Amino acid sequence: MSIHISIDKDVCIGAGQCALTAPGVFTQDDDGFSELLPGREDGGGDPMVREAARACPVGAITVSEA
Ligand code: SF4
Repeated sequence: MSIHISIDKDVCIGAGQCALTAPGVFTQDDDGFSELLPGREDGGGDPMVREAARACPVGAITVSEA
């Protein structure tokens, strides 16, 4: 099943947990806020995506079934 990841940048506080948990999918921009690596909106099959969403302290990451 394919998924779609979205990051609410208005909610993100730049804690970096997502990039630490799933570095193959999430990175941090120059201001420290989370962004998806290019082409990783679908998670790239990385099993850590949902873990990263759970790890976000402010719930900024939404993983939906596409
Ligand atoms: S873990 Fe959440 S708050 Fe931290 S950088 Fe990632 S999306 Fe932003």
